[in-house]
Amino acid sequence: MLFRRNWETNTWHWRAQCGQWPQQSADERAGLPRGGQLCKECEALDLRSALQRLTAEEEAELQRYRNVAQKQRQRQGSRR
Ligand SMILES: [Zn+2]
Repeated sequence: MLFRRNWETNTWHWRAQCGQWPQQSADERAGLPRGGQLCKECEALDLRSALQRLTAEEEAELQRYRNVAQKQRQRQGSRR
């Protein structure tokens, strides 16, 4: 897997579909890089593609996780 670093944010991206994927190959690694941060959007894209390969049981578990995350967002929203 190819990783690209965005120098400004010191964040590694590994999915070309990511909205923040660096266009210039300033810093590229073939494997999981050390240091810096991993992009949250790339993680979300990973999760979405993994979802397509999940069993029904795993999908239900992920759905429960998303429901919790959604409730947390709603609670945060109502505080504002
Ligand atoms: Zn990314």
